[in-house]
Amino acid sequence: MDTEKLIQDVVKNVMQKLSVGIIPSSQTPDNTSESIENNGKLKMAQNVASDRKIVCSISVKHVHLCREHLDVLYGKDYEPTIFKELYQPNNYAYKETVTIVGPKLNAIQNVRILGPLRNKSQVELAKTDCIILGIDAPVKPSGKLEGTSSCVLIGPKGAVYLKEGVIRANRHIHLSEEDADYFGIKDNDEVDVRVSGPKGLTFNNVQVRVGKDFVSEMHIDTDDGNAADVVNGTLVEIVNASCIAPIGPSTIADLSKIPPGIPDNSISGEITDPNILKNINNITSQSDVGLASSASSNITGSYGNIGSAKTLKTVITVADLDNYKASGIRLSDDVILSPLAKDEALARGIKILS
Ligand SMILES: [Zn+2]
Repeated sequence: MDTEKLIQDVVKNVMQKLSVGIIPSSQTPDNTSESIENNGKLKMAQNVASDRKIVCSISVKHVHLCREHLDVLYGKDYEPTIFKELYQPNNYAYKETVTIVGPKLNAIQNVRILGPLRNKSQVELAKTDCIILGIDAPVKPSGKLEGTSSCVLIGPKGAVYLKEGVIRANRHIHLSEEDADYFGIKDNDEVDVRVSGPKGLTFNNVQVRVGKDFVSEMHIDTDDGNAADVVNGTLVEIVNASCIAPIGPSTIADLSKIPPGIPDNSISGEITDPNILKNINNITSQSDVGLASSASSNITGSYGNIGSAKTLKTVITVADLDNYKASGIRLSDDVILSPLAKDEALARGIKILS
């Protein structure tokens, strides 16, 4: 048997195994029956070379608000202005934004509000945003908010303590019914998605959401997007990688094998660039001020002091500016100046002292 024939046989054999979802016995057998029975995955395996690709978009950090919270942040019965229609029909970015504050008292300003309004407010962040804010948000599908993380939202008219609702949105695909039929997959299936290019990779655990109003589009957060060099409109492929190696929970090496870091995480660890933290909004980073422990916070619904009972912060809004005409505003660890108030103070010639 010549070499070329041998290689052809091996390739054919492997391809056959892939197409029927057979997992080599050396691998975890947990998903075996699922892989074989899941027709969706079978069809996808055969469709790896399909030229039907999916448009991928990056979801930058954003918030969805309920009516009640918009009332607090922007005023009673405030009607937000549509800034731009999104790719999914009847979804839009509003002109309005909020500031998000987390337990480190770092703030991220100008976070877009997406519409329409929802029954429950939801904040969607990437891991990097979470590191900046000091929030350990879980990976969750949109709307699955029970037990998720907390933060403070600040708008021009007030602040909200969001007890839960902060998530890192799971990777997901909005799939049109036609494309769902084509791929043989259904609502809530999980698929793998391959991105090409020099930073190409395969995203696992991608939730499929099929809806009659959906236009096919994959949504990933900025960290996933940057990892794979994805930009808005990058075409990606639904593939079936789970039949090759089923994905399980992530595990960590024994203590003796963990690569060493240094205490400030500037070489390795979860913070990629400590300078990012130093430059956020002039709000001094301060640990030990736990939003998570301030469920009884007094700030929901009105301005005033922000934070837990043991550490009160003064929030200065546009409405407070008259009080600072003469003295100017002295910034300190205990003072949060809302972005709008800062602009307005500068416009009115009120001194901001640091
Ligand atoms: Zn989405």
